[in-house]
Amino acid sequence: MEIRRGIPVSPGIVVRQAFVLDSEDYRIPRRFVADREIEGEIERFRQAVKAAEAELIGLKKEVLHKTGTEVVPIFEAHLRMLLDGHMHEEVTGQIRDNGFTAEFAVSRVFRKYSKSMKAVRDAFFSERVVDLFDIQKRLQRTLLGKQREDLSHLTEEVVLVAHNLTPSQMATLDRKKVLGIALDAGGRTSHTAIVARALGIPTVVGLETISIDVSGGQIVAIDGNRGIVVVEPDESALDGYRNAESKYRDFSRSLIKYRRLSAKTTDGVRIRLLANVEFPWEIKNAVENGASGIGLYRTEFLYAEDPRKLDEETHYETYKKALEAVAGEELVIRTMDIGADKLLGADSLDHVPESNPFLGCRSIRLCLEDPDMFKVQLRAILRASALGDNLRLMFPMISSLEELRQAKLVLADAREELDKKGIPYNRNLKVGVMIETPSAALIADLLAPEVDFFSIGTNDLIQYALAVDRGNERVASLYKATHPAVLRLINTVVRAGQKAGVDVAMCGEMSGDIAFTILLVGLGLKNLSTAPTAIPEIKQVIRSIDTKDAKRIARRAMKFQTSEEAAEYLMEKTRKILPEVF
Ligand code: PEP
Ligand code: MG
Repeated sequence: MEIRRGIPVSPGIVVRQAFVLDSEDYRIPRRFVADREIEGEIERFRQAVKAAEAELIGLKKEVLHKTGTEVVPIFEAHLRMLLDGHMHEEVTGQIRDNGFTAEFAVSRVFRKYSKSMKAVRDAFFSERVVDLFDIQKRLQRTLLGKQREDLSHLTEEVVLVAHNLTPSQMATLDRKKVLGIALDAGGRTSHTAIVARALGIPTVVGLETISIDVSGGQIVAIDGNRGIVVVEPDESALDGYRNAESKYRDFSRSLIKYRRLSAKTTDGVRIRLLANVEFPWEIKNAVENGASGIGLYRTEFLYAEDPRKLDEETHYETYKKALEAVAGEELVIRTMDIGADKLLGADSLDHVPESNPFLGCRSIRLCLEDPDMFKVQLRAILRASALGDNLRLMFPMISSLEELRQAKLVLADAREELDKKGIPYNRNLKVGVMIETPSAALIADLLAPEVDFFSIGTNDLIQYALAVDRGNERVASLYKATHPAVLRLINTVVRAGQKAGVDVAMCGEMSGDIAFTILLVGLGLKNLSTAPTAIPEIKQVIRSIDTKDAKRIARRAMKFQTSEEAAEYLMEKTRKILPEVF
């Protein structure tokens, strides 16, 4: 049994066998061959070694030709490892003694080697782990015939273990089969984490090497509440986790009764709970979970292919369907936010690699650089606005007044184009901005007169305020929503909104974390947009608090000097209300 600690990003507990995708998406299942096939399997391994050897010799020659002798030793070292007799004996031993397939035997043996090398904790050996991984992949590629595994066709319930998953891979997951996720990479607000939460799959990220350390078929327990992953739990741990899994399921079911209840505090203040959605099919799930609208409709999924080929009709039809799905409730469409961790089809946007993509030409900047492309989306949103005045438009990543004005100018252009053609749209369409850069937060008073609403995007706001990459597991411990700087920024925005009579919502992941609900209500936020699956829990907290108490608690939380103290304090206050989740 091995206990691993990572970052909890989607709550829930589950124990199942692992389904491992390595970083090239090859599945390495624990499969067996019949006794009579064992010699054939050993031969398959020998052939794979030969093919890998030929590849390496070819590469060595090519590199020698292109770059001289400097890089050649790397290939020589790989060749030595590949042809190592001891390794061959171990792999063939695993096939012969256990009846494993060649690919599973290779994965077993290489995992063992890399584990013992990592245990030495020496830079030289750490680098060799990368080499080992490289050789293993080379062998697997030949053995598996380069087949990419399709995640939408799983036949058994599993815990998915991988280095990382792209948002589009997440979108094709079969939720009935993938019951838990454990990833090497990622932070709490990385996009993969956001989608996992939206799907309601217990997930732990930032596990660094879990995809190398776990083999397909091993039993893995995921505790998405505490960020713990247990590999091959012993009998008593297994019993404990199975028990916890069923208890957590009962607790989640018990929250269903909150769906139809209103989100009102005990002193009668109504808080609007909206949902963040990444894909259109989530809207239904959100409404079922009791959302009173969609506070953040991310539109990046539309750009998965070539953004320049994306036509106005496709945009329009998508927004029209979304409006039908929200059935008269609010729908906030955010304009395209591609870039940094949301690359998707941006490769096809002649994407120039940037050394600091999070600070580069992403999101609204990309749109303002290509107003014609931007206008395609804006015209479609405007046209959809004629179908219901519950539709709102929101610009992401605004960092200055000039940028907001520029975006509004392009919108005015789009309106004019529709006017010329006599195409109807809602002339009173509400236009808002995301407050997700510290600069926008600090000039919220200057932005307020030019917009109808603010929506605080804490995922980016925290990353930019604290200079901590939201998706990097190495700095995840520095990513703190309760940092005094973050709390002050949020407070500044809420106050500016209140003063100017501009609605303020929050749509970052912070709004979906029950540990912060009392604080956010206490600070005066009345609109929280969150992962649909978090809504029942948040509602339960709201229905148990009084706004006067919440204000007092928020004032106290703002006074702490460190994020730890504030987090601990808020946790303690929330634990009293919802002990089941902690
Ligand atoms: C945010 O930054 O808080 C946000 C909601 O936007 P995204 O997560 O899509 O960047
Ligand atoms: Mg953002």
